[in-house]
Amino acid sequence: MYESKVRVSIFGLGYVGLATAVCLASRGFPVIGVDIDLKKVSAINNGECYIYEPGIEELIKEVREKGLLKATSNPTESILNTDFTFITVSTPTNPNGSVDLTAVEYATKSIATSLKGKKGYHLVVVKSTVPPGTTEGLVKKILEEFSEKRVGIDLGLCANPEFLREGRAIEDTFKPDRIVIGECDKRAGDVLERFYKEFYGDDMPPLLRTNAVNAELIKYVNNAFLAMKVSFINMVADLCQKIDGADVDIVAKGIGLDKRIGSLFLKAGAGWGGSCLPKDLEALKNLYSKYGERAPLIDATIEVNDHRPNKLIELAERITGGLNKKRVAILGLSFKPDTDDMRNAVSIKIINTLINKGAIVTVFDPKAMDNARRIFGERVNYSKDVIDCIKGAECAILVTEWSEFAKLKPEDFIKYMKDPCIVDGRRVFDPKEFLKKTKFATIGLKIDGL
Ligand code: NAD
Repeated sequence: MYESKVRVSIFGLGYVGLATAVCLASRGFPVIGVDIDLKKVSAINNGECYIYEPGIEELIKEVREKGLLKATSNPTESILNTDFTFITVSTPTNPNGSVDLTAVEYATKSIATSLKGKKGYHLVVVKSTVPPGTTEGLVKKILEEFSEKRVGIDLGLCANPEFLREGRAIEDTFKPDRIVIGECDKRAGDVLERFYKEFYGDDMPPLLRTNAVNAELIKYVNNAFLAMKVSFINMVADLCQKIDGADVDIVAKGIGLDKRIGSLFLKAGAGWGGSCLPKDLEALKNLYSKYGERAPLIDATIEVNDHRPNKLIELAERITGGLNKKRVAILGLSFKPDTDDMRNAVSIKIINTLINKGAIVTVFDPKAMDNARRIFGERVNYSKDVIDCIKGAECAILVTEWSEFAKLKPEDFIKYMKDPCIVDGRRVFDPKEFLKKTKFATIGLKIDGL
């Protein structure tokens, strides 16, 4: 079907779309990125990056120099000059917990309208996380209506959920655990499988081909299971916190060695946040209620997580004797290390509670300071580095486990803080070492006097 490499258009140049675009282009696939945000379009065309993601900036420069990536806000230009289109627009949550599909609808309409004037087969791939039935229902209907073509004949359509992790987006795109293709017809599945085989070569990951509904469900269920694992170990942490000699890190290590459980996503801490888990769990919960089914494990997973920020605040209150008018340093703002993304970050809830309790908050994050300024404005103080952040503080709370924080020693806190009260919300510091020299509290470990 294709003499040269498949040409790809990608609608939505956020964390997923941009990572996908640069990775495809770096392996020789010509990519046209499409976004309604003109700032993103011009940044890419100037070889600049607007998110923090390890390795992405270098790749943008490389593929721009080779002429393999360009961006536009013009859907028709991109559709007429490509063979495949990936939809990677955002799918946020509506106030009632359902998924807001406005961006998917809008993007699909513009793709379909542009396809009307195009000759030849074109494959449309939904990578955005969408509720079961969206690809075969909404997307297919809009595509056929506005392109005046038939899915399965003139057009191919697949759901192909994305599993990359922010902070590891490039690595995960080049080496995913698996690929799930939810095909609306066999030809579309064959074409997409062939494309991935060309992209991955000898490193082809395990591939699951199924219908679109299963593919869409797999994404939500996957995220719910991961969140449940984290909430489970956080629940265990609360028990460990009460029992002399118990330590959640050791308990997690012990159960993680059981192959049926596995060690990943068993780190107790301040809870999960970010752009995916909270919204995807909300969407799954909404789906259960739509079908009149109960989802107690999902409810409990969310409930445990909702209490995590308060657990840290309680520890901070106990260790300091009260937070009113106390100078509190927050180490880490992004929802996890190696990203600047603060969507639904736990740090936001913690900081808002601290402010309500009368604390004077100073923050530092290696990459998320611009996003933090947009969220907190004048309500907090911003530091240029971690030492500047803890200087003169009466309490330091580690919220995001950036590797540079792990290098801090008790002596650093003693030297720069007014009163070295430290709350480790991610089990980064060695409790034995810190307890000898500072007032210290952490998750899932009983500490005398607290
Ligand atoms: P994002 O908010 O970072 O990016 C979405 C982009 O789509 C924005 O740049 C926006 O301007 C653009 N957009 C909106 N409407 C458009 C339109 N009509 N045409 C072209 N562009 C349009 O979102 P994201 O984090 O990259 O997530 C995208 C999807 O992938 C979501 O469904 C999400 O659930 C899913 N996902 C995200 C991750 C992640 O780690 N961020 C991982 C897996 C799956």
